[in-house]
Amino acid sequence: MTSAIPFPAAVEIEALRVDLDGTLATPSDPGYDTLRASWNLTFDQRPALVVEAADGDDVVAALGFAHEHGLTVTVQSTGHGAAETCDGGMLVCTGRLRDVEVDPVLRVARIGAGADWTDVLPRVAPHGLAPLLGFNPHVGVVGYTLLGGLGWLGRKHGLAVDSVRALDVVLPDATHLRVTADAEPDLFWALRGGASNFGVVVALELQLVEAPALFGGQILYPGARATQVIAAYADWIATAPEEVTSALAVVRIPAAPFVPEPLRGVTAVSISACALADPAAAEALLAPLRTLGDPLIDGFRPLTIGDLGHVAIEPADPMPAAGHSEVVGALTPALQALLAATAEGERPFAVVELRHLGGALGREGLPGPIARPAGELLFHAEAVTPPGPAGEAARGAIAELFEAVAPHVAGAPLPSFLGELVSGPERLAQAYTPAGRARLGTLKRRYDPDNRFRFGRPIPFDWAA
Ligand SMILES: Cc1cc2nc3c(=O)[nH]c(=O)nc-3n(C[C@H](O)[C@H](O)[C@H](O)COP(=O)(O)OP(=O)(O)OC[C@H]3O[C@@H](n4cnc5c(N)ncnc54)[C@H](O)[C@@H]3O)c2cc1C
Repeated sequence: MTSAIPFPAAVEIEALRVDLDGTLATPSDPGYDTLRASWNLTFDQRPALVVEAADGDDVVAALGFAHEHGLTVTVQSTGHGAAETCDGGMLVCTGRLRDVEVDPVLRVARIGAGADWTDVLPRVAPHGLAPLLGFNPHVGVVGYTLLGGLGWLGRKHGLAVDSVRALDVVLPDATHLRVTADAEPDLFWALRGGASNFGVVVALELQLVEAPALFGGQILYPGARATQVIAAYADWIATAPEEVTSALAVVRIPAAPFVPEPLRGVTAVSISACALADPAAAEALLAPLRTLGDPLIDGFRPLTIGDLGHVAIEPADPMPAAGHSEVVGALTPALQALLAATAEGERPFAVVELRHLGGALGREGLPGPIARPAGELLFHAEAVTPPGPAGEAARGAIAELFEAVAPHVAGAPLPSFLGELVSGPERLAQAYTPAGRARLGTLKRRYDPDNRFRFGRPIPFDWAA
């Protein structure tokens, strides 16, 4: 293992182990490989030690230790957003911090940093309340929310980052704080976009929304009809109200035993949607997408809040993956043709997707560094990228696709969708407003002067104005 940082002696590590209610693992401990694993298997991180925190005090002890010994630190919930590997440093895992408490009167949920949406939905649904969750229920609440959070109720209620009301945070110097807009305005502004650049969040408090009636699901058409389906979608989104959030995707359905025939291994065009509307209104609203003839599956149905994790069919198991996305102005004929072409032949994409933006997603929310998406759609592609030539070819295909998308780009990408294909400060910078970048740089110098949190999309000091 290579590290420029002096590594603490075994005796000091053992003292930390005794201090913790949670688990500490070094490369020689049996739990090390399980704890260091990321959902995205591309990132084979090899930290010098892993702390799986059992509570906020464990996070304080871990960061105090890192501060004292000059260790770099990164934090992981699920590893869906893994970026640079924290080799030789400390990895703080939040997987045991999954408590969810709901205040139905204030309509606020306090959510532990290791929770995903499957932990949250059963707790909020009995109160008729919903969080602004994303498409995949297994993505971590904190990583998704702090990096923007584009989800099912977005066109009506905006980005999830605007639903944050308070954060329980341990700073790089191990100070434990409750951060609100009033109590800690600089940190409240910076964490909602800057995420782990400013420490480890132990819990988040999120504003919930009422969802008295929900309708949605997914309809699948054969890939051979991509041109027709994409054109119908382009017409439909032109007048779709804010109550409905939707996405169209060209997908390769895996040839796996759990997939029913005749879907196994086929290319399909899916339209997924979620409407805050009663069944009669939603049926009328979605009718133009359901009357194109002969779908492979029409899964639109009334939904409960608990069903929100299953509107679309999303991957669950870890995989090596790389993706990229950009916000584009409109679904022009040229973009329609580009997307339809991805349904032809043996293209290596797992999914090429358009998410409908606009509505509250394009409006200013709480003050923060994230640039609001200015275009009508997010254009996103993802591929499975095993090590070796197949993975390289897939990465190349995504790069080539986005060369063709480039003339259609309209403004900033979302931080939660920066993807793995292009990394580094220039890509990160695109996700923030110019003033946001400068203030993030200033606050990074103030709160993490030793640049201890230098992984997972680090903010460079030289952004400071
Ligand atoms: C299959 C899949 C589906 C997705 N769907 C959506 C979607 O619908 N909408 C959307 O907006 N995004 C989506 N994303 C992107 C996802 O929101 C980001 O990758 C997000 O960062 C993942 O968060 P995580 O906690 O699961 O991942 P992790 O890799 O564990 O964390 C990612 C980053 O989040 C920050 N973070 C995590 N925990 C903490 C903490 N306790 N304190 C401080 N910072 C922390 C850190 O910066 C960390 O590097 C998807 C990603 C995948 C792989």
